[in-house]
Amino acid sequence: MVELIDEKGLRMDGRRVDETRPIKIEVGVLKNADGSSYIEFGKNKIIVAVYGPKEVHPKHLALPDRSILRCRYHMAPFSTDTRKHPQPSRREIEISKVISEALEPALILEEYPRTVINVYLEVLQADGGSRCAGITASAVALADAGISMRDMVVACAVGKISGKVVLDLDDTEDKEGEADMPVAIMPNLNQTTLLQLDGILTPEEFEKAFEMAVNACRHIYEVQRKALIDKYFGEDEVGEE
Ligand code: ADP
Repeated sequence: MVELIDEKGLRMDGRRVDETRPIKIEVGVLKNADGSSYIEFGKNKIIVAVYGPKEVHPKHLALPDRSILRCRYHMAPFSTDTRKHPQPSRREIEISKVISEALEPALILEEYPRTVINVYLEVLQADGGSRCAGITASAVALADAGISMRDMVVACAVGKISGKVVLDLDDTEDKEGEADMPVAIMPNLNQTTLLQLDGILTPEEFEKAFEMAVNACRHIYEVQRKALIDKYFGEDEVGEE
């Protein structure tokens, strides 16, 4: 049994229970995409490319009154501790669907009838919480692509390890812990677009965990905003610290 929280209340990487890992977001990192972003969320490293809105092929799949949002979450073979088979796994297919459903409420898809918007998430390195980091980065890449949005979407996981509710689980905490709950919100509309729970929480723990996740999302939203402001209004060139 791994000791996940020490006697000082600190986690294996030195974080407090209510602390997220360091976050860095860059905007417009790919020249061939309509919008793109790169996120480092602790050891997670994910690049997102958005293409569209563009014509749907085959044409009969097009919707007359709105655009179709398609997300593909893919893990590079070298992204995990053991080589991941390059073929899409059931987990990647499920996460692609979950990410799409978490982002869709924020997009004004009715503005782009008969089109498709493709969002490609390439996980270069995964360390727990990659779907949340992926959602956060995708919202930024969609904004960079100029897609009309009602709000941003921002995500963070929360869970339970060694009997304590903790924020933003890493891979070891996710595997050894008792519960993992990814949450995504639209921070200005104050609405939840993703809530999953793997494991068991009491109603009291759930309430505490959810509040922790929402507070963390509000903090991460500021990082999203700053990344977009730096790209569009700042003096910094992309890639510079
Ligand atoms: P999330 O990354 O959103 O927390 P999961 O809870 O399904 O998604 O996965 C937790 C972590 O497990 C991932 O971030 C990654 O570090 C690890 N993992 C996922 N799939 C694999 C795999 N095929 N091989 C090795 N590690 C994996």
